[in-house]
Amino acid sequence: MQSILLVEDASFFEKAVLMTLRNIEECNVYVARSYKEAEELLKSPREKPDLALVDLTLPDARDGQIVDLTKTHEIPTIVFTSRWAAHIRKSVYSKGVMDYVVKDSPSSLDYLSELILQLRRNPETGVLVIDDSRPAREKIVNVLKQHRYQVFEASSAVEGQKVLEKNPQIKLLLLDYVMPGEDGFAFLKAIRRNYSRDDLAILGLSGVDDGENRVRFLKYGANDFIQKNCSSEEILLRVAQNLKMIDRITELRDRAIRDPLTGLYNRRFLFSQAEAHIKNAEAENRSYWVCLVDIDKFKSINDTYGHVAGDTALLTIARSLQALAGPSDFMLRLGGDEFCALLSCESKDQAALKMQTFLDKLRLTGVKLEQGNINVTASVGIAHVENGDITGALDMADMCLYRAKDGGRDKLIAC
Ligand code: GH3
Ligand code: MG
Repeated sequence: MQSILLVEDASFFEKAVLMTLRNIEECNVYVARSYKEAEELLKSPREKPDLALVDLTLPDARDGQIVDLTKTHEIPTIVFTSRWAAHIRKSVYSKGVMDYVVKDSPSSLDYLSELILQLRRNPETGVLVIDDSRPAREKIVNVLKQHRYQVFEASSAVEGQKVLEKNPQIKLLLLDYVMPGEDGFAFLKAIRRNYSRDDLAILGLSGVDDGENRVRFLKYGANDFIQKNCSSEEILLRVAQNLKMIDRITELRDRAIRDPLTGLYNRRFLFSQAEAHIKNAEAENRSYWVCLVDIDKFKSINDTYGHVAGDTALLTIARSLQALAGPSDFMLRLGGDEFCALLSCESKDQAALKMQTFLDKLRLTGVKLEQGNINVTASVGIAHVENGDITGALDMADMCLYRAKDGGRDKLIAC
């Protein structure tokens, strides 16, 4: 979001919203405290806001006229209201607002920040709607587009499967399981063979009196259900909730394979994912090289400059390795002061050249601390991965590394 228009007359809420926005993203916020001020702001020649956050009841426009104003300017709008009431909800939705926030508790600001973050993420999140009925499909597609999802549609299971295969960004599937000539259950089972519940959320689209099929669908791997006649608000809430679950799981999975200090992959990644990746590469006649990197006399950096300085050295080396990584390379911190670069290279010389560049740069620039620059060097041992055997390659690289240390450090030995 580049710019947001905030129209709010209560100064305490204006401040709270501004603080919330400041915490979640960098953007220009234009503030108006009345309908008139908003009107003036929108008349002046400046960039059109990407989003409007507006109070439904303003001193000079008590009946939600502000929404008509933002709608005239085609600005996607989120409404603040001081209380929840069915008629208010109905009236704001009929005006085509994206969502509304009831400002009756501090949690409303959490809801707002979650919503804005979501709107920012949604264009990268793919949602596929499979339904043979065009009007039913279009209704859902339009609702999803309002919240900026990247929406795909298909009118049959076969077509849906193709769209899914081509678009890995699809994280959620809305599936009408009663389609003429097709068995939604068989389709669901087939999908689940390749996509787990944690990778792809599947929401069944069901009729009202469909209790038995709903249960069957859940048993075959659906995450949730949406009744076809439910409100747009419910569709968006259920979709967002299920996507949030997928995001959380992805985040936790990613955290488990990363080193918390440097953000590089950790040892677990090596045996859980890198191994399979390398075997696939070998099947395509591509080779990997294990390059073990160990900082020279790192203990003395800690002893002389302190642990924080030691951490800075680790971070500097991690960044420098990451900068070296090509699209098929993996950079890891195995523990302590030991790193590993898994390089996809055509030859030993190519891998050695890459790592020598890293060593030369480190020797030349050292590590920048608050006290000034300090000299830091490292040693490297390199070995080829044969037949996906990472353990064997690590042992060989370790032997080379030992020889590099023994030979005076700041050296590279490839075997
Ligand atoms: P060599 O040249 O033989 O590799 O000597 P060295 O001093 O680097 O070897 P050693 O393995 O004895 O030292 C590693 C040190 O790394 C010891 C340990 O206290 C320190 N260390 C391990 N993890 C961390 C960390 O996360 N942060 C910091 N600052 N130090 C760490
Ligand atoms: Mg060391």
